Amino acid sequence: MNASILVVGEESFQTVLVQAIQSTVGATLDLTVEGVSTPNEAVPLIQAQQPDLILLDANQTSSLSLCTQIKAQNHLAWIYCLLVNLQPRQLAEGAEVVVSWSNRLLAETQAMEAGADAYLWMTANIAAIQPEQFAQQNQRLQAQIKVGLRQVQNHRELMRTNDILSAIALSDPLTELNNRRALEWELPRQIHNARSRNMPLSLMMIDVDFFKGVNDTYGHLVGDRALQLIVARLRHNLRFYDTPFRYGGEEFVIILSDTGAREAKAIANRLRSLIASQPFAINATLDLSITISAGTATLLPEDDSRGISLLRRADQNLLRAKAQGRNQVVSCEDNTSSEDDSCEDNPT
Ligand code: GH3
Ligand code: MG
Ligand code: MG
Repeated sequence: MNASILVVGEESFQTVLVQAIQSTVGATLDLTVEGVSTPNEAVPLIQAQQPDLILLDANQTSSLSLCTQIKAQNHLAWIYCLLVNLQPRQLAEGAEVVVSWSNRLLAETQAMEAGADAYLWMTANIAAIQPEQFAQQNQRLQAQIKVGLRQVQNHRELMRTNDILSAIALSDPLTELNNRRALEWELPRQIHNARSRNMPLSLMMIDVDFFKGVNDTYGHLVGDRALQLIVARLRHNLRFYDTPFRYGGEEFVIILSDTGAREAKAIANRLRSLIASQPFAINATLDLSITISAGTATLLPEDDSRGISLLRRADQNLLRAKAQGRNQVVSCEDNTSSEDDSCEDNPT
């Protein structure tokens, strides 16, 4: 297993801890151990490298606030924070007691409350302790590191499962396009993006013409294959920043970033013509001629931030394209053109 550990403390702290780590878990893990002197120096490293485990000097005043800071950030909170109180003298029974029992409890409680995952007492002065005690101290450190890495590993697996589940939830298995749920997530993001950059944004809503007839005549499997081929042709002819979604059965929405009304209409017409111009080879004996209708709409200042009114206008335009005979595109928002189709939403 690969693991990265960051040790945060003065040089003497770093030396003792790095040696202890290497001599214990170093042999069993593929370890990267780095050291920095202060929590302040650690912050940019933690953000950039996200180590699995951080060992902090409990006697540095800002160590606790670093733990708090890490645990307060969602993308870092899984990092295991282990505070190490390195005592200059022996802590073991029978020797001079440096820290009272109640002070130990207090220090540990404060650390946990600040967000530390564990608190470890160690003795720096190795010469002052028996070899067995030294071995025990290292075993304790080793156990604690293993606990931390196990937690991090569990977290990583959960994240991976999460990613897979999200991908399944957001994609359509037949066409491998993003689905309507993905559109509901993506459209507000794109609207926000377009508005903050002061760029246009358009939508195209597509519906396959007379598709029920394909199923009724040739069966559902042929219908499925036709949908896959239609999507493949659409996809191959989009610009890389256009995002297609399967909105419903044989309906698709394409978000056209940085695209005004006139350009959206031209793109929609190009796609419509590409679908109509050449039949789809379903199998060796069946070629199907298919057409699509499309409605486009372009973001207006008064549109809501979720894209509901924008989608509604595209849908209304699609219905007009159907009503006007199918295999055509309707757009009503090309404000720069005097040849606009007029529509109720946005009369010219
Ligand atoms: P229009 O030109 O008015 O759009 O006519 P249409 O026949 O396409 O419209 P309608 O809404 O009546 O029919 C849509 C058809 O699309 C009915 C449905 O069975 C079919 N369909 C939807 N999803 C799928 C799918 O995943 N696979 C298959 N094979 N057919 C599907
Ligand atoms: Mg249809
Ligand atoms: Mg339909």
